[in-house]
Amino acid sequence: MTTIDLGTPRLSSIAAADPSRPDTPALVDTFGRVATDLRISLTDRCNLRCTYCMPAEGLDWMPSSDLLSDDELLRLIHVAVSRLGIRELRFTGGEPLLRRGLEDLIGACALMEPRPEISLTTNGIGLDRRAAALARAGLDRLNVSLDTLKPDRFKTITRRDRLPDVLAGLAAAKTAGLAPVKVNSVLMRGVNADEAVDMLSFAVKNGYELRFIEQMPLDAQHGWERAEMVTAQEILASLRTAFTLEPDSRNRGAAPAELWIVDGGPRRVGVIGAVTRPFCDQCDRTRLTADGQVRSCLFATTETDLRALLRGGADDGEIADAWRNAMWAKAAGHGINAPDFLQPSRPMSAIGG
Ligand code: SAM
Ligand code: SF4
Repeated sequence: MTTIDLGTPRLSSIAAADPSRPDTPALVDTFGRVATDLRISLTDRCNLRCTYCMPAEGLDWMPSSDLLSDDELLRLIHVAVSRLGIRELRFTGGEPLLRRGLEDLIGACALMEPRPEISLTTNGIGLDRRAAALARAGLDRLNVSLDTLKPDRFKTITRRDRLPDVLAGLAAAKTAGLAPVKVNSVLMRGVNADEAVDMLSFAVKNGYELRFIEQMPLDAQHGWERAEMVTAQEILASLRTAFTLEPDSRNRGAAPAELWIVDGGPRRVGVIGAVTRPFCDQCDRTRLTADGQVRSCLFATTETDLRALLRGGADDGEIADAWRNAMWAKAAGHGINAPDFLQPSRPMSAIGG
């Protein structure tokens, strides 16, 4: 098996298992964190082209022979749930609604023991027709990404004229009982930074829980610039021009969002200061890409090839052990603020955000 170093053009062979790793089934790392939340990318393809994620022309999609089949994917998820202590599954991408048979995959995961929590992050295109079936299959919750309420801006940001589809998807998710329906928003200076208040008013009115996410250096074009990023502090200052915000005293746990109670409640808003207020010391995530690579972090520069193990005939115990070794080597933090930071060459859309 190989560990692929994506930060440099070179391939490196996998480090031998570290004898100091404790003999526990869980996905522990050297900093005492335990991963219980698995993010699964179902495809690297997408029907939008958000400027902070992908170039206008799209990317060279993974060849289908590289993608895990449904059976392969379910086998790895089963290993994670039954042997590694994974309690939450989140399907993402690329756009996960583009994966054929998503409802069946969710249904199969809902039958696993112990039954994991199952959620989805989607751009919402086509969700209006599928929300009810997804809920029936066993989906518990979902996040829909929406950065603006203005059709012309939506077209500029996503390079597609699909705002009504996303709004219809959100409404259908609420009707289907996929509560709380969360909305993910990335603000960009000079593009939509002036919409923080309107976005929160919209979310409060419709009963959605809004989360602003600081823009991260994960775009395929490597065009991220710190000065263009709207910081958590700026977002909070904007919101406070129209709302009172009190910190939500409930324990944040491993959740990346700092939560605020809006105008005395019950509505809340979250701000994910991934860059300026990192939460890496509380991270409980492990990631599986659509081509079967385990990543210990969005910003990892190495991956562990579970697909090669799987296709090479490894048994579940060997796969579980390789996964444990991958997570044991997890870095302390994402390093974005370090002078020697290296953006991973695999973009967000191929990692699974
Ligand atoms: N296509 C789905 C969607 O947009 O929800 C799922 C995949 S997308 C990569 C997951 C989330 O990552 C979205 O909420 C998106 O806004 C966010 N995202 C993408 N690129 C980002 C970046 N450079 N910085 C911060 N968030 C980003
Ligand atoms: Fe597609 Fe999501 Fe990336 Fe936008 S953020 S291009 S919807 S994968």
